[in-house]
Amino acid sequence: MNKFPRIALLSFHTSPLATLGGSVSGGMNVYIREISKRLIDKGFQVDIFTRREGQELPLILELSDGLRLFNIDAGPPIVVNKNDLSSWIDNFTTSVKKTIENFDYDYDLIFSHYWLSMLAGETLANDWNVPHIGMFHTLAEVKLEALASENEPQERLEAERRLIGKLDRIIAATSDEEEIMRTIYGVPANNINVVPLGVGPDFFEERTQKQAREKLNFIDEDKIILAVGRVEPLKGLDVLIRAMSHIDNKLVYQLVIIGGDKAASTEIIRLKNIAKQVGISHKVKFIGSVDHSKLPVYYRSADVVAIPSFSESFGLVAVEAMASGVPVVASDVGGLALTVEHGRAGFLVQPGCSDQFGEKINLLLCDAKLRHKFARVGVENMKSYSWDAVTLQLCNIFQSLLEDRSKISITSEVAGA
Ligand code: UDP
Repeated sequence: MNKFPRIALLSFHTSPLATLGGSVSGGMNVYIREISKRLIDKGFQVDIFTRREGQELPLILELSDGLRLFNIDAGPPIVVNKNDLSSWIDNFTTSVKKTIENFDYDYDLIFSHYWLSMLAGETLANDWNVPHIGMFHTLAEVKLEALASENEPQERLEAERRLIGKLDRIIAATSDEEEIMRTIYGVPANNINVVPLGVGPDFFEERTQKQAREKLNFIDEDKIILAVGRVEPLKGLDVLIRAMSHIDNKLVYQLVIIGGDKAASTEIIRLKNIAKQVGISHKVKFIGSVDHSKLPVYYRSADVVAIPSFSESFGLVAVEAMASGVPVVASDVGGLALTVEHGRAGFLVQPGCSDQFGEKINLLLCDAKLRHKFARVGVENMKSYSWDAVTLQLCNIFQSLLEDRSKISITSEVAGA
């Protein structure tokens, strides 16, 4: 083992530096950014490998001392729909091996994100004889069951079923995810660690709503309902727009939607048409994607954050909103059902139910006392979700896998002697 254990972190289909809120870049990108810089502080070296998405990108980008990002050639050097990327996995794997062949160090473990990276990780872990740790972020079977997706490739379903049993350790974001892996996929409990996602200290910043609105040039008297995230049908923004017809006519409000890039333009047009049908086009503001570091001020400006997703494995936006002191109205699915304390920090409603969303948002908008009460509970509840704590748990898991591995190699050396 190296003195400073070296991790090869695979993020094949999206770079941690990608603009967030597009159609594929969200929670996973935030996760990789946040934990990788903290793993360095804990004494690990981290090389992140992603598929090159731009000709101009350098092969190696030094992000900080000990943390590098490799843009690996595999397929066209442009953004490609993730459902069309699996045929480039072998090229990616070969390019990773070729890129590092002249380096004078080895990797101690591989940490793969999303099923596509795991396909590459599987081969690399075999070649390098190192532990392979994986985080699925979402599972096709779970999305299909939530009727949140109609077109998960068969190849993904099959690959996930196979990979899930082959990883040396799976990191699940919630106990629900862990249960699904145990009961549906038959993974032994000791092969899964539940480590939730976190939130940075900047989201807990004390700033009044008025100050936040001044900074953003939002009208202080308006009520603001905020939605943040990738813009794709799974996120249920159509449900939220329709929910606005249940808001009290006397309330002056704006629905502010953060997220969405060029690839999301078809979905944005669809949503704008729905807003037109509902007669609220003038009240819906599409801001586009906002840099993660600038989000705390947007959250603080809101009266309610709505998360109408049909499926959500963790739902980082809910945690960020509650840490920022804003009540949430969220679908009763996945991680949201675990982080949002119903009736105390927010409301959980049936996914897809515009009337329930509208009713609960309206209730909060009309009752400042309730909002403040929920906000206080939310902030308190979120104090246990920190990226530092997440990283510490990951370090312990990595260390124990590395210790197990070195015991095995010592034993086999002795046996061979
Ligand atoms: N996000 C961002 N800027 C945007 C849109 C989203 O920084 O314009 C971040 C958001 O703050 C959150 C993540 O993207 O940290 C979305 O994570 P979540 O778990 O809610 O959804 P996912 O993308 O994983 O489905």
